[in-house]
Amino acid sequence: MWYFYASLKAALDLKRTCPKCKHSQTTKLHLRGKTVSCKRCGADIPPPKPNYKT
Ligand SMILES: [Zn+2]
Repeated sequence: MWYFYASLKAALDLKRTCPKCKHSQTTKLHLRGKTVSCKRCGADIPPPKPNYKT
């Protein structure tokens, strides 16, 4: 059942790409609509526009 957990985790974690250093990182679901800090350079990464309505 590892694949189920992996897909579930992938659905909960959202990818963000730093506009400054292009570092990709995942963001927790509860931070989806919030600006997060890049784990590499510390720059602010603004939330992406949602593809669907919740
Ligand atoms: Zn960065």
